[in-house]
Amino acid sequence: MTEPLIDLRDVSRRYDDGPPALHDASLTVWPGEAVAILGPSGSGKSTLLNLLAGLDRPDTGTVTVDGVRVDRLGEAAAARYRRSKIGMIFQFFNLLDDLNVADNVALPAQLAGTARGEAHRRAAELLEALGIARHGRAYPGRLSGGERQRVAVARALLNRPPLLLADEPTGALDTASGQDVSRLLRELNAEGQTLVVVTHDLALARSCTDRTVRIVDGRIVDGRIAEDVSAEMAR
Ligand code: ADP
Repeated sequence: MTEPLIDLRDVSRRYDDGPPALHDASLTVWPGEAVAILGPSGSGKSTLLNLLAGLDRPDTGTVTVDGVRVDRLGEAAAARYRRSKIGMIFQFFNLLDDLNVADNVALPAQLAGTARGEAHRRAAELLEALGIARHGRAYPGRLSGGERQRVAVARALLNRPPLLLADEPTGALDTASGQDVSRLLRELNAEGQTLVVVTHDLALARSCTDRTVRIVDGRIVDGRIAEDVSAEMAR
């Protein structure tokens, strides 16, 4: 029987004396799904991402990703977990400006202990597949926002992670580049990549995922399609 790729159960997390940033949150994501986590600023999206990435631990509840109990990992194990299971894309790309594109993309494999030659072979393949091979020797500062995000996607895919997490991946892009990145995510999902996109942008949620999970004041409202949410937001 297939196991969920993400199994988040009854997770709560509060910071200091504030209200819970996440409150009894449960979420199941199956392999091959593309899911958007949609919510306004302050609703708990980053808290949820940090828990999925093993950057933070819940106060109560369990976080299981690809069979790993992420909430139980120590720091070193969490770093290994991130390298092998998670690819991350950020709003502001998080590329290293002093490394050229090929070195940026190859970096996660080298950190995971892959030999330099092999890491670069795989990086070159991905740059080719994502249509940015001609920029391999360029430095990120020379590229457009859309191109930088493509480089970041290539880097995120380098270790063939079962889960791709995207945090407002089009938030810093113009409309055309945003649509381009959104299409790219859609294509990756069509090829089987499981995708979780965290955003406050309903249009992005609709264009690159097939299920929208809403998060409001730290509570997850699951199992509704984007159209329902859209109708509700329009009211
Ligand atoms: P979002 O990503 O949707 O904007 P967050 O997960 O960042 O939401 O925040 C959820 C709630 O938790 C907010 O009320 C925020 O102020 C609070 N919060 C987030 N991170 C911290 C922190 N490190 N310390 C204290 N409060 C925090």
